[in-house]
Amino acid sequence: MRGRGTVPNGSRGWAGGFAGRFAGVVLVGVLAGVTTFGCGGEGNSVEAEAVEGTIEVTATTMHITDMVESIGGDEVEVEGLMGPGVDPHTYQASQSDTEALIDADAVFYNGLFLEGQMQDLFVQAAEQSPTVQVTEAVPEDELLASGDYEGQNDPHVWFAPELWVMTVDPVVEQLSELKPGSREIFEENGEEYKREVMEAHEYAEGQLSEVPEGNRVLVTSHDAFSYFGEAYDFEVRGLQGLSTEDEAGTGDVQQLADFLAEEEIPAIFTESSIPRRNLEAVQAAAQDQGWDLTIPEKELYGDAMGEPDTEEGTYPGMLRANADTIANALVPEGNGQE
Ligand SMILES: [Zn+2]
Repeated sequence: MRGRGTVPNGSRGWAGGFAGRFAGVVLVGVLAGVTTFGCGGEGNSVEAEAVEGTIEVTATTMHITDMVESIGGDEVEVEGLMGPGVDPHTYQASQSDTEALIDADAVFYNGLFLEGQMQDLFVQAAEQSPTVQVTEAVPEDELLASGDYEGQNDPHVWFAPELWVMTVDPVVEQLSELKPGSREIFEENGEEYKREVMEAHEYAEGQLSEVPEGNRVLVTSHDAFSYFGEAYDFEVRGLQGLSTEDEAGTGDVQQLADFLAEEEIPAIFTESSIPRRNLEAVQAAAQDQGWDLTIPEKELYGDAMGEPDTEEGTYPGMLRANADTIANALVPEGNGQE
């Protein structure tokens, strides 16, 4: 069952519920959260109230769901709102999602406007429960600028594993506040998760180092991979803009095809959360210029991951799979690629 039932829906309820001496602090937290949210999508929310039994968490993307499950172990039950193939930019919360956000003991989301349609809901959730933007832990100067939205940052932070591991500590901290007796477990699990992420990162580096200089171009359906490009030294071009809400025009298709034919790039990639047809148009336009490029059958995991309970439904598995897919398509045959 969801919901602690101590905070009535639609009202702050602090005066009657939580210990009175904290009420002032909590109220400041609420106001600060809402205020800072308005100018940057960041913010604190209400303070944690200790939970008896399992902590009920609601998370948005699969990356976050996987992380929180890894850290929380048996102490936490995570409701992940977005499954495989789901596009977070356009995702509209259902009624039951809204309830899951409002009733959770804690909410974890990516932020930086990744979940573009859910901003108001996070404000609402923050009035009820601790609501944590996990990317807030990444220093501002490590964030890449959005290519499309003036003054905003690129939200696809998970593709830089060294930045993604920074999102672990805030989750450990929040879960520990909710269940102080389990702090040691959360800390251990958090460190273990970081290790697994960095191991997958090393694997990806190894695979991708096989791609020769001239082929180090990654063309995908939309601009999810800029952090990936920075981390693994690839030039990255997306057909659509940063958000999938932007439609690719015919001019974009032609320009990209010209570039690929010119540079003789052997492959371009689709993403699991984006339709394939946009890139097939690029492939056809390149063919018109006499350049055959392939679109590997295997899609890249962009804004979503693989099926739950499979290797690729975990962050480290997703990273390895993407590295394999890219290396297999961009490393010339006979180059020792397994
Ligand atoms: Zn995206």
